[in-house]
Amino acid sequence: MSATQKPRAAPEAPPTAPRERAPTGTPLYVHLPFCAAKCHYCDFFSVPDKGQDRAANLNAIQREAELYAPRNPRTVFIGGGTPSLLSIAELTEFLDNLERITSFRSSAVEVTAECNPESLDRDKARALLDLGVTRLSIGFQSLHDEVLQLFGRVHSVEQSFAAFESARSAGVTDLNIDLIYAIPGQTPEAWEQDLGRVLALGAEHLSAYNLTFEEETVFHRWLSQGRLAKSPEEVELAHFEVTRRLTQAAGLEAYEISNFARTNRHCRHNVNYWHNGTYLGIGPSAVSKVGATRGGNLKAILPYNRRIEASGDARTWEETPSATERLFETWWLGLRLAEGISASEARERADFSASEDPALAITAGLVADGLIEETDARFRLTARGLPLADYVARRFLAAAP
Ligand code: SF4
Repeated sequence: MSATQKPRAAPEAPPTAPRERAPTGTPLYVHLPFCAAKCHYCDFFSVPDKGQDRAANLNAIQREAELYAPRNPRTVFIGGGTPSLLSIAELTEFLDNLERITSFRSSAVEVTAECNPESLDRDKARALLDLGVTRLSIGFQSLHDEVLQLFGRVHSVEQSFAAFESARSAGVTDLNIDLIYAIPGQTPEAWEQDLGRVLALGAEHLSAYNLTFEEETVFHRWLSQGRLAKSPEEVELAHFEVTRRLTQAAGLEAYEISNFARTNRHCRHNVNYWHNGTYLGIGPSAVSKVGATRGGNLKAILPYNRRIEASGDARTWEETPSATERLFETWWLGLRLAEGISASEARERADFSASEDPALAITAGLVADGLIEETDARFRLTARGLPLADYVARRFLAAAP
């Protein structure tokens, strides 16, 4: 699953208006929810594949696409879950149907598929390319087998490197690697060594996330039981700084707090989220934002299938933030990007038209605190503010009406 499609606490409000097809060109997210096993830190909606009726769920997702997916999406992100878990035959049928519905193969400038090492070999990577996928994202997560076991992952480090090589030999020229740092017991020196090994692979993109202990995960339970300890903040900060130093030395631009890319290889689909743009999500748990309204699908396989079959609409919640809420959200999302954001961009992206701009008092406070700075009318996080991006977001959220 794309990190920016993370589940959110579902508001109470059920959807009211009938759902419509997203406008032509809207970025498309497809959530394929099955995984080989559930990772202990994962709070995305995903379920172990064993005993599940994949065909029925794929049919339902396809039905949802037929009803709402945009024609000619600018970008497509196939996340989950583990899309690479599908067989080549399943991927072929699904993506051929998606092409029939959306014509994404000629319209999308980027089509990403998330893959896990245990289910990605050369043939599958080749098939994905042939089916219109342009970019693969491979979940390495750690370079230590004992940590992968602690995470509940079902692959080895050797398989991660083999999957990367398979993708390259199949001809994939746009590759992301996902890594997690600040793992209990991991030192910044150990992280530096691991990151160095991964960067030596020369992937076009790296996503490196601080380990979090989200509610309703095994890790959260282990933390509360004292079976796991969170890394101290100064260690997390040291990992963050190692990440920025090494990626810069390797020629990757830190275009977002946790995302690093070679020139022009940033993830366009995810940049749209940080621009607070419109997107359409299909599949269980998928979130959509069309116009000012956001909504999300049921987080359960069978109920999702049944609702799609019965009414064609599996949304379980919907919200329309106020103009000020949209403006504040646009600010804290935009500040995550190295390009920063200007006050006029924020107003335009948020479709905020009032003459008084309530964000300016917040940005002035953040500038005074040394967390953001202004250059040529653009605001960006300072070196001090970068690791505190979540705190900066909370400053906007706390001020929202
Ligand atoms: S493979 Fe990815 S989506 Fe599946 S459980 Fe693990 S982290 Fe979550």
